[in-house]
Amino acid sequence: MDTSEVFSRIVAIYEDGGVVPACAWCGRVRIDDTWVVPPPAALEAIDARNTLSHSMCDACASRGAPA
Ligand SMILES: [Zn+2]
Repeated sequence: MDTSEVFSRIVAIYEDGGVVPACAWCGRVRIDDTWVVPPPAALEAIDARNTLSHSMCDACASRGAPA
């Protein structure tokens, strides 16, 4: 998945009124069960505060979250 696809997927979810799971620790977002770094433009294009759902990616979960 390239950057432009990630961008369009995030915007599509936002326009559908959905939420995008986002790792609270590293900032990756989950698209189709894959954690990817979102392009900054995508976060500016959506209402990130209401569209991102704080979660934890597999890498951070396996590492153990900081207390
Ligand atoms: Zn993470």
